[in-house]
Amino acid sequence: MEVVHTIPDLRAAVARARQAGKAIGFVPTMGCLHEGHLSLIRRAKEEAAFVVVSIFVNPTQFGPNEDLSKYPRTFEDDRRGCEAAGASLIFAPAAADFYPPGASTWVDVEGVSAKLCGEFRPGHFRGVATVVAMLFNAAQADLAVFGRKDLQQLAVIRRMVRDLHIPVRIIAHETIREPNGVAMSSRNRYLSAEQMTQATAIPAAMTAAKALAQAGVTDAARLRDAAQAVLAAQPALKPQYCEIVDLETMAPVASTARVRCAIAIACHLGATRLIDNADL
Ligand code: AMP
Repeated sequence: MEVVHTIPDLRAAVARARQAGKAIGFVPTMGCLHEGHLSLIRRAKEEAAFVVVSIFVNPTQFGPNEDLSKYPRTFEDDRRGCEAAGASLIFAPAAADFYPPGASTWVDVEGVSAKLCGEFRPGHFRGVATVVAMLFNAAQADLAVFGRKDLQQLAVIRRMVRDLHIPVRIIAHETIREPNGVAMSSRNRYLSAEQMTQATAIPAAMTAAKALAQAGVTDAARLRDAAQAVLAAQPALKPQYCEIVDLETMAPVASTARVRCAIAIACHLGATRLIDNADL
């Protein structure tokens, strides 16, 4: 497995792989890799013979009061994990090199990025869409694998790829969870053992909504109320949003009867912000 830091080196490696007749898969990450990321890499490897993993903590998707400077960086562990999961190459650019000096071009995916996390993290999805567009241009992969864990991000990327005619196939991979049901996240390492237990109220809230939906309830307010009641029973959790949304547009719905929907939740637990979602 190679590690490269510049776009010319990345493009040269990808061109060699393509010349050898290999399909190119791509998994963008911010590092601090866990089993969720590794399952995306294994999935990419099932779909493509040459798998590029990017490790880049993208400064433009962090707000001024967010955890950019203390975002965990664990490159040596990440390198070993990528190799074991079957990655062919890690692309790890330096922020100062990756964004040209004075870069002033942004990809703004309107609508899909407006609600949910977009409301609480202004500029976040503009940073995500821009860096993913840059990474797609750099890697020129045939396919890219994203986790359903970041449901709105997935919807934003799908819309961007469609609107800008970017020639890459987007594959969504299921959310990988801890044995207690909490979605794996690089930020889980900020949680104490007690908080990790308190966080189980999030998947429990989703399960409550899902159970009602499976029993035939389509009224979004009822589904949301059931989930909110479970969240409220855990006072350590400070919910930011708990919404029933259309999977494609990320807009809150009044009824789940006619569109494919998910429940999406964001909560603070101490200083840590957690998100999760489930299809209904
Ligand atoms: P991040 O490094 O947090 O930006 O995430 C990189 C990719 O890994 C994104 O496509 C995420 O959706 C995905 N991902 C993060 N956590 C999980 C998880 N628990 N299960 C599946 N995919 C995940």
